[in-house]
Amino acid sequence: MQEPLKQHLIDPEICIRCHACVEACPVEAISFNDDNVVVDAKICNQGLSCMGPCPTGAIDSWRVVTQPYSLEEQLGWFELPEQAEIAVSTEGSDADTDGVDDVIAALLNEAHQGAGGQAKAPASASKPEVNLYSTKNPIKATIQGNFRLTAEDADSDVRHIIVNLGTGKFPVLEGQTVGIIPPGHDANGRPHQPRLYSVSSPRDGERPSTNNLSLTVKREELGVCSNYICDLARGDEVTLTGPFGSTFLIPQDPQAKLIMVCTGTGSAPFRAFTMHRQRVMPDVNGTMKLFFGARTPESLPYFGPLGKVPQEFLEKHFAFSRIKDQPKTYVQNRLLQDAAAIAPMLSDPNTYIYVCGLKAMETGVESAFQDIASEIGLNWLDIRDVMRDGGRYHVETY
Ligand SMILES: Cc1cc2nc3c(=O)[nH]c(=O)nc-3n(C[C@H](O)[C@H](O)[C@H](O)COP(=O)(O)OP(=O)(O)OC[C@H]3O[C@@H](n4cnc5c(N)ncnc54)[C@H](O)[C@@H]3O)c2cc1C
Repeated sequence: MQEPLKQHLIDPEICIRCHACVEACPVEAISFNDDNVVVDAKICNQGLSCMGPCPTGAIDSWRVVTQPYSLEEQLGWFELPEQAEIAVSTEGSDADTDGVDDVIAALLNEAHQGAGGQAKAPASASKPEVNLYSTKNPIKATIQGNFRLTAEDADSDVRHIIVNLGTGKFPVLEGQTVGIIPPGHDANGRPHQPRLYSVSSPRDGERPSTNNLSLTVKREELGVCSNYICDLARGDEVTLTGPFGSTFLIPQDPQAKLIMVCTGTGSAPFRAFTMHRQRVMPDVNGTMKLFFGARTPESLPYFGPLGKVPQEFLEKHFAFSRIKDQPKTYVQNRLLQDAAAIAPMLSDPNTYIYVCGLKAMETGVESAFQDIASEIGLNWLDIRDVMRDGGRYHVETY
């Protein structure tokens, strides 16, 4: 049976048929007729050049498939098909949900592909435990807290969820993800697949030496798992798989300088990174920069607590794109504003770059690093290769 792959598609309901993506695609994988704009899975190399120019976000549509949708099928769509249950080879197994963890692994792999190649863990990172719990063998935990992080009138509902693991063994490192299995069944009567969420607490828990972890979850309209999690109350039981991820990890070396770039819930691992460093190396100043984008301060998760972290410990650069009477500012604009400080860091072997959040942010961030590098006569793609091979360039977008 064919391995599942994440197929790039265009949402016909959101697309305004401006064809900016058609021009942006360097391999000519995107074409159109009078009805729809479509992506040829045989040609698309998922280079993501088409993401930036799309004004609506319709371009950022994906389905995990074993048989890619043909151009003819896509041209006939009025809406995207629902994500189908993926049948993965179940040879030698007896459970309906076998293969689901392979799909999770494929999603995680895909989320890390923006690094431009095979990501590696930082040499000094702690060794992570992975795949301790699967859909066949999950772990039960209890909700300890559920707090809204964004203002009540903000356009997004992002929540800080604390999960108490009781006496269960669930060791996580900052930067890892966990699977949450929503209860119930999908339209085909199969148990729901787990969804991935980044851990936003440090390895030793929300408070030192507590066997709990936190997640940063955004409620997606009509989303099965995000609504389930955002509605959980203190004391409710939740089912976890994982931990997952063995490369997007923090270096333990105090000399390591971190440039962290995020939007929305992409802040989750960076909350964990910051808290970990505050606990283990509180006197190491001037080594962490955070570039954080949101529409407004009210919709930026952890805006209040972040303000309390001293600037010399964590240098914060916020970018807001929807403040009345102010120009729209995105993380890439903030990176460029800090170019004089970032440029020398690009050739410093102690620099580590992490990008986390919406897939659509990658193009702008990459192009900002390209501009910063070329200003000092360097080629960003060469630098990125060196950094990635040394476990110093990390992308996790979804
Ligand atoms: C590596 C990784 C890390 C991640 N980390 C985080 C994290 O830290 N925090 C976080 O919040 N998310 C994170 N995610 C995303 C998360 O895994 C889920 O994809 C997300 O919460 C949506 O899941 P869902 O079950 O709510 O939506 P699903 O039910 O899977 O739906 C997917 C999308 O389709 C839309 N949809 C569903 N049904 C309909 C319908 N009938 N009509 C129209 N639209 C519909 C939903 O709005 C949603 O946007 C991560 C993903 C990856 C790959």
